Amino acid sequence: MGKKKLKGLHEAMLWEPQKDKRVLCLLCARRCSIPEGQEGLCRVRVNIGGKLYTKTFGKLTAINIDPIEKKPFYHFYPGAKTLSIATFGCNFKCNFCINWKLSQEWIEETEYYSPEEIVKMANEEGCKVIAYTYNEPTMLFEFAYKTGKLAHRYNIKNVFVTNGYMSLEAVKKISRVLDAAVVDVKASLDPEFYRKYMSVPDVQPIYECIKTFQRQRVFLEITNLIIPQIGDKREFNERLAEWIMNELGSDIPYHLLRFTPDYQLLNLPPTPIETLEEMIDDAKRQGLRYVYIGNVPGHEAENTYCFNCGELLIKRHGFNVLENKLVKGRCPSCGFKINVVTD
Ligand code: SF4
Repeated sequence: MGKKKLKGLHEAMLWEPQKDKRVLCLLCARRCSIPEGQEGLCRVRVNIGGKLYTKTFGKLTAINIDPIEKKPFYHFYPGAKTLSIATFGCNFKCNFCINWKLSQEWIEETEYYSPEEIVKMANEEGCKVIAYTYNEPTMLFEFAYKTGKLAHRYNIKNVFVTNGYMSLEAVKKISRVLDAAVVDVKASLDPEFYRKYMSVPDVQPIYECIKTFQRQRVFLEITNLIIPQIGDKREFNERLAEWIMNELGSDIPYHLLRFTPDYQLLNLPPTPIETLEEMIDDAKRQGLRYVYIGNVPGHEAENTYCFNCGELLIKRHGFNVLENKLVKGRCPSCGFKINVVTD
């Protein structure tokens, strides 16, 4: 294969050769076995001449400066400026995706940036964090790895906002440069919902991915998108909260997110706020200490309260931190240590 035909492609990480020039992609739990000349399910990785390449290295569809609360991280450098970048593609097929133009339809323009340019930009703009977000960051894996390594030299942190369907090999590899991850689950990991509305055959890899992130000491927050009528079963939320409590601990921030109709799922209303409030209570009853509401600006469950004495510690409105009273990660009233990462 001549060099000209490989223009714009970058050799992929995490794959192995198979018979007849097929390759096995080890990046996500789909584990696609890809014949020569074809792409994996995500359409991002392609087998050329028995080697796996990625089409997305440095090809960015979005670069924005966001507050870290938009990811949403509530316990990782509260109020930090974040350089958020994305490419195209996804290994899920959610028919309600809010970023469907880049994840499913690939109709956004891309522009090439090098890892050096991204780190320089983050540094010059005073961004504490680079977030790989909007579409599934696994789709930008090689670029994120290289950029992340460089970012650490400038004391800039790296975070993923992921669907959690990464292979364990991928989690272990990226954890060398990753400081924190938000794992976005939907419908409380209801397996039937994942099959029907997201074309995901099995949710078990997501549990394994989350546990492996924690073992690799990546700071974790978990979001759960509640979709009214079809993805709002309270028993599934209770089961998930119980699992987080038992496997990860009571300090993991847990966000219950309000659904707003998008893409092909336009016939449903936004999630009733009462549903989210009931689920917040259910999750707290399971023992979780920091349970938040998302996409409901102005709600009191956007704030962080001291688990010990109830003092209001971080006041938020939407993506903005209005007040942060923490002193070296502790409650100023009773001295209780909160699971918050700060300098
Ligand atoms: S990243 Fe996942 S979906 Fe894409 S080719 Fe690899 S295994 Fe398949």
